[in-house]
Amino acid sequence: MPASTTRAPVRAAPSPVSPPLLSVVIPLYNESGSLGELHRRVKAAIAGLPLAGHELVFVDDGSRDTTFDEVAALAAIDPAIRAIRFARNFGKEAAMAAGLRAARGDVIVLMDGDLQHPPELIPEMLARWQSGAKMVTAVRRSRDTDPWLRRQLSRGFYGLFKRVSEVALEEGGGDFRLFDRAVVDAINSLPERTRFMKGITSWVGFRQETIDFEPAERAAGASAWSLLRLLRYAIDGLSAFSTLPLRVWSMVGICISGLSVLYGGWLVVRTAIFGIDVPGYASLIVSVLFLSGIQLISLGVLGEYVGRIFTEVKQRPLYLVSERIGFDEAAK
Ligand code: UDP
Ligand code: MG
Repeated sequence: MPASTTRAPVRAAPSPVSPPLLSVVIPLYNESGSLGELHRRVKAAIAGLPLAGHELVFVDDGSRDTTFDEVAALAAIDPAIRAIRFARNFGKEAAMAAGLRAARGDVIVLMDGDLQHPPELIPEMLARWQSGAKMVTAVRRSRDTDPWLRRQLSRGFYGLFKRVSEVALEEGGGDFRLFDRAVVDAINSLPERTRFMKGITSWVGFRQETIDFEPAERAAGASAWSLLRLLRYAIDGLSAFSTLPLRVWSMVGICISGLSVLYGGWLVVRTAIFGIDVPGYASLIVSVLFLSGIQLISLGVLGEYVGRIFTEVKQRPLYLVSERIGFDEAAK
């Protein structure tokens, strides 16, 4: 949406009186290859900023490589590092939720750990925040680093989402964002288990701005998102922010019933005029198959939502933590 990617209007904003505490939240899953450089670049990017202090919150989402050991080693030399280790891989959404809950800053930056999100953008994001934005989203200018099929699918998804859901998603808006404390508090207060950060961030509202960036290639390792996993994620996102898939079936039902009434009327008239004949087997089987197909689809859609309700009702925690670094006992 070009309109929303325009630069923010310049306005005389009250710059915050005291310099803020900055939290950088980074989910990590098998990122040992990029961790050292990530740490270096983030530190360098925020070095000259007018901050009261900063912290780096690493959330190790059950990595199977040496990521957490490396985080621990970095934490030994850098007291600004705080880290959470999950008991297993709970997924990026859970990792982001944990990081946002742990963050103590007045401004919180959320970014990927594979260096596709350049930390050098943080100063500009912070400047936007200082001039009044409550949320700054870094929007990918292109998806050239993604495979073709994935680009097409994601375009289709954003189009569909825009049509059926209650919130609009920023196309290309990934999870590279800066939040004001108020926004993070709002996000943390959402109780839902099926997390979809892109939707949540537009749902909460607040004053949002976007800046463009060109995503880099992955620094190391491989993307953990298979097509199937992305598809599941897309279904989660849609069902979390739209009830249209549930409601559309009543419309389909009404249309089909209406057509059947017309068809029934036509049959009566035809019988009255031409007498009884034996209607074809083909039309019968086609309508039976068509209708049972529709019934199965609608049952499946119901199942999706009932499944969602089930996971919410179970009230299981979003994630389990096995280790923490840099948390005092009082903290959760
Ligand atoms: N990630 C995670 N848990 C997962 C998968 C990914 O915490 O189960 C992290 C990963 O370490 C990285 C970010 O999420 O910091 C983005 O992951 P990735 O680069 O695989 O996604 P892509 O850039 O391909 O969308
Ligand atoms: Mg990536």
